[in-house]
Amino acid sequence: MPQLNETHDPKLKSWVASANASGTDFPVQNLPYGIFRKRGSNEAPRAGVAIGDQILDVSAAAAHLNGAAADAAALCGAPVLNDFMAAGSEAWSALRKGLSELLREGGPADALSGALTAQSDAEMFVPANIGDFTDFWANLNHASNAGAINRPDNPLLPNYKWIPVAYHSRSSSFTVSGVPVKRPKGQLKPPTAEVPELKPCGRLDYELEIGIYLGPGNELGSAIAIDDAEDHVFGCCVLNDWSARDIQAWEYVPLGPFHGKNYGTTISPWIVTMEALAPFRTAALKRPDDDPKPLPYLSSKSNEENGGLDIQMEVLVSSQKMRDDGVPPALLGASKFKDMYWTVAQMITHHAVGGCNFRPGDVCGSGTISGETPDSYGSLLELSWAATRPFNLPSGEERTFLADGDEVIMRGYCQAEGAARIGFGDCSAVILPADK
Ligand code: CA
Repeated sequence: MPQLNETHDPKLKSWVASANASGTDFPVQNLPYGIFRKRGSNEAPRAGVAIGDQILDVSAAAAHLNGAAADAAALCGAPVLNDFMAAGSEAWSALRKGLSELLREGGPADALSGALTAQSDAEMFVPANIGDFTDFWANLNHASNAGAINRPDNPLLPNYKWIPVAYHSRSSSFTVSGVPVKRPKGQLKPPTAEVPELKPCGRLDYELEIGIYLGPGNELGSAIAIDDAEDHVFGCCVLNDWSARDIQAWEYVPLGPFHGKNYGTTISPWIVTMEALAPFRTAALKRPDDDPKPLPYLSSKSNEENGGLDIQMEVLVSSQKMRDDGVPPALLGASKFKDMYWTVAQMITHHAVGGCNFRPGDVCGSGTISGETPDSYGSLLELSWAATRPFNLPSGEERTFLADGDEVIMRGYCQAEGAARIGFGDCSAVILPADK
């Protein structure tokens, strides 16, 4: 697990003035990676780090770096971050230190100012070749709520407190923040209908999640010990696991989600590294005394004491009418990643225990991050309680699930005493109508 070092010092300032603005997601203590190019250009997509409202081209900065930092920067000219992710924590840490020194006050501003691109002028890309995507269900509040809605007599299945439950999903339909998502069609069979029909989804939902990018993988057939799990994790993004509840309800028994989930996953373009998150480590959620203890392979002192991550999550919605009228997006849910029932290390360790291999650039979703009260729910399934509790947007428009033209905006940020606030940037997308 990365340790605190000089790159986390809250007193550090950058020569990029916008990185010193209060409330910025991207101070010099963050330095998240993304893949970008100047919008409308034929430039090759390549790695950059976000700094204030700018992006530093990592390859262009490489000439000012030495040793391991220069070697690591040389991996960042590719259009995906997989090779850099595979390089491991020493390489990641060396480059972070090098970039931190270059971007601090007193760094070579004149030499590097030409290597900056304004984020407002940049086109962002999915930052890795994501070979596989597994989505967990690691939040007990969400699992209990979804269970209570779908199975009122038997809300939480007996495996939940033993297994970090997950399903394997699709990586081909990942898109980066800003790319619209088309309402899917699928088989719908309301309880009153005799036979299903192929129709546009009528219960389109979001799921507020953290995405976890894998760094070095594991060999096929080899497990990952829990205290080694985070050596395999490069960093995190905000992830929206779009969910078609009516399609899901008809198809999910017995093999789980399929068309309800596979048409789109939106991610924030920036990957906040585990090293940048070091000041925001916290204890894993304390289990009630009468809950089962995790099996030994999912349990360690280090995981109990530091396995949590204190990330504040938010989901906001704005309708087309709200945007036309200049009404700001409405906050529908605010929750905390530290409230997950299973930690990142437990998810990674469980995933590999049967010998399944991770590869660099794979993504695991955390599962919907919900708190205990409706203002902290991370999905509309919960907020509208499966459409039985409609609510109004500030425009007066009623919602249960998403309407065409709605924009869903997800955010994550971390703040703690003695640390600089860092954020993940937006994960947003507008819903387009289904095909005719
Ligand atoms: Ca999910």
